[in-house]
Amino acid sequence: MQDTQKPTEPKAPARSTLSHGVKSLVALLVLGTGSAVAGLLIAGPNGQNGPGTAEAALAPPPLAATLLTATDIQPPAPPLQTATGKLARRETLTGLVQRLGAPANEAAGALQTLYDEDLLDPRRLLPGLEAEVFLDDGHLSALNVKAEAGRNLFIKRGTDGNWTAAALNARLTPHYHRVSAPIETSIYETALKLGAGDQQVVDYASVFAYDVDFQREIHPGDSFEMVYETYTDEAGHPVKTGNLIYASLDGKALTRSFYRFTPSDDGETDYFDFNGESATKFLMKTPINGARLSSSFGNRVHPISGYTRLHKGTDFAAPSGTPVYAAGNGTVVWAARRGGYGNYIVVQHANGYKTAYAHLSRYARGLRKGRRVRQGETIGYVGSTGASTGPHLHYEVYINGKPVNAMRLKLPTGRKLAEAPVIMDEFLKSRDAIDDIRAEQGAGLLSVSLPVNPPSP
Ligand SMILES: [Zn+2]
Repeated sequence: MQDTQKPTEPKAPARSTLSHGVKSLVALLVLGTGSAVAGLLIAGPNGQNGPGTAEAALAPPPLAATLLTATDIQPPAPPLQTATGKLARRETLTGLVQRLGAPANEAAGALQTLYDEDLLDPRRLLPGLEAEVFLDDGHLSALNVKAEAGRNLFIKRGTDGNWTAAALNARLTPHYHRVSAPIETSIYETALKLGAGDQQVVDYASVFAYDVDFQREIHPGDSFEMVYETYTDEAGHPVKTGNLIYASLDGKALTRSFYRFTPSDDGETDYFDFNGESATKFLMKTPINGARLSSSFGNRVHPISGYTRLHKGTDFAAPSGTPVYAAGNGTVVWAARRGGYGNYIVVQHANGYKTAYAHLSRYARGLRKGRRVRQGETIGYVGSTGASTGPHLHYEVYINGKPVNAMRLKLPTGRKLAEAPVIMDEFLKSRDAIDDIRAEQGAGLLSVSLPVNPPSP
């Protein structure tokens, strides 16, 4: 608990998947004037883009055809003023639309249409969300909300003064992207250089969180591979990334590969190794959002303590505010200050196991003694409370009250697909398909210095 490390990054990786690619879609739609959008929206309620119908994910309406039809029936529109902005932290969407120049009551009325028709959930808006307003003589004429990658929401005021909303989905084509390289300083930095996004690295770290101590068991010269989905729009621009389908680590401490698979019997998506054994274990080895932890060997200030008889825990240096996960399913038996531990959580698991988390900056919302928690659920955030000289998580595991070294534990594993032959057959097909994708994407390691891959959003 005495160790110090300066955080190298100010905060945990962002989870936003909003991309630049969506801009191309919007550019196509608005074509520099408001008329195309206005026309489209007039066509909305009667045409194929009406609320609800355009939501069919499998067969979105052909974008160009819709646009042409809409524009054709549109009489010349008065010149509209437009303004574009992004949702700031702690800002409401109504606030943003107002900031872009719309009167408050009109902003609220237009957005209420989106909420009423379940096109947008006001509780799930992320900072960075883009909106574009079309103003006619100071009044809101139309509004475009870029809800997520490949999905735009349009609200238009009709001649009767009522608002009409429509959702438009771009037709997205799935691709796969493979990133593989020796780790130079960290998996995080290396993967990002090769075009992966924050989310892929977070997912990668989660897959290995059961097996790897990301702070001490990743070394220079280890190599990694990840394959994930990407989607392009009709113009071929990358719009968003999808699931990580393959994760592999070839290192001094561990060499393992995992394939994403959803068994048809229980529907529980998980990552399985070559032989169909789940990556999931009873407890996590790195119970923290560990995407950036592997940078420790590149730029650490001084080594972070591992387990010793006196220390009785493992320290993970991480920026203050990094999410801390429940290492396994269980019940919170302590969530309060406790001397040198500072803000401290203890979780009771099955079979006499307990895990403990010290020096937290704060607890997750609603977390208190008696609450049941699920493995991987965020229970608190890294901090430096109590007897601590820098932000880190101090993690302890107890068996029947006795502290044990979490990094040395042999823990029960999750599902073994071979026990269900039908499911194992499904898995083998899926695994081979993923290996085919990997082969198509080239089998060798990519050099970090070569920009082989286009940047992902
Ligand atoms: Zn410690």
